Amino acid sequence: MIPLHRPIYQKKEQEYIKSAMEFKTGQTSFCALCENWLTDYMKIPGMMTTSCSTALDLAAALLHAKPGDEVIMPSFTFSSTANAFVRQGLVPVFVDARKDTMNLDEKKIEAAITKRTMAIVPVHYAGVACEMDMIQQIAEQYHLSIIEDAAQGLGAYYKGKPLGSFGEFSGVSFHETKNFSMGEGGALFVKDTQRFIEAEIMADCGTDRKKVRRKETLEYTWIEKGASCVPSDISCMFLYPQLYMADEITSNRLATWEFYHNELTDLAKQERIVLPIVPKECNHNGHIFAVRLQDKEERNAMMHYLNEKGIMAAYHYIPLHSAKAGRVYGRFHGEDEVTTSESERLLRLPLYYGITAEEREQVVEAIRAWCIKK
Ligand SMILES: *Cc1c(COP(=O)(O)O)cnc(C)c1O
Repeated sequence: MIPLHRPIYQKKEQEYIKSAMEFKTGQTSFCALCENWLTDYMKIPGMMTTSCSTALDLAAALLHAKPGDEVIMPSFTFSSTANAFVRQGLVPVFVDARKDTMNLDEKKIEAAITKRTMAIVPVHYAGVACEMDMIQQIAEQYHLSIIEDAAQGLGAYYKGKPLGSFGEFSGVSFHETKNFSMGEGGALFVKDTQRFIEAEIMADCGTDRKKVRRKETLEYTWIEKGASCVPSDISCMFLYPQLYMADEITSNRLATWEFYHNELTDLAKQERIVLPIVPKECNHNGHIFAVRLQDKEERNAMMHYLNEKGIMAAYHYIPLHSAKAGRVYGRFHGEDEVTTSESERLLRLPLYYGITAEEREQVVEAIRAWCIKK
């Protein structure tokens, strides 16, 4: 079976696990090592969290918005993007996607802004950046915050700047399906120093325990509302060696992405499938390779064919505005010209670090066979 994702495990973890077991949660250790690496990479203070969902929860809480305030986001995204805000009583206002990248359509944002709009939440689908210049310009003009859902974006860039470094807050994910993984995990980045300290307290059960760890004070106490959002050192231990081989992981994934792109070009020319498009400002990270078929029926037919051959191709998000909770908690602004119809055509192919030449060849062969058969 060729899976859709395969987490990375290396020999190093066995060596690290002993030392990780000697540390306690969040003390010096691997958690701090990961945070140092991330902060250095992003040039913005970062903290490890138990997931990207948790990072977004913290960001949404730190917005200090009032119930009924609104945030603009794409509908073609994971539930966590919206959950974080809904849990604070905010209303997700879904805006249509761009047909090429499936990202928030920057040209449709302005019309969705109301007096209650607090923030724009760009989601960089497949590690391909949103049109950040225009999004930043709109945010400035209307005094809105940007909270970046860069769950899929680590290792990717927009005009040379890392994804996750644009927002006042941003989250990345280390879920097992992402490019860099620790099973479950994530990180939150916060531009403002004061807000970062607020986030640290909120993330550490509402206490200033981080200060004790930094030896700034001897005892810690309950300061504010908070939750338990700091991951264990054992999970950070799995991530740490991957960060140090980040370039190798990204280039390996990109090589597979390019392979699929080259091998499937003939089928695209014959208009049997549509290949992914990456705008020139974007250096992506090979997170997802998704083809598009004629319609939902064709997409499902190819998906089932590949699945039967032991190839785990998969569709992606059911748009949030048409989901049960999305209809209750959010609303779609404007026409859904792209989101639903394009999401129904989309099919992701297996892509992970270390996929073998035989495996990816098998994927391409199966797609060719299906196109001929049809
Ligand atoms: C994976 C993902 C999340 C959630 O990340 P977790 O670390 O699993 O909580 C949120 N948003 C997007 C766009 C994602 O792809």
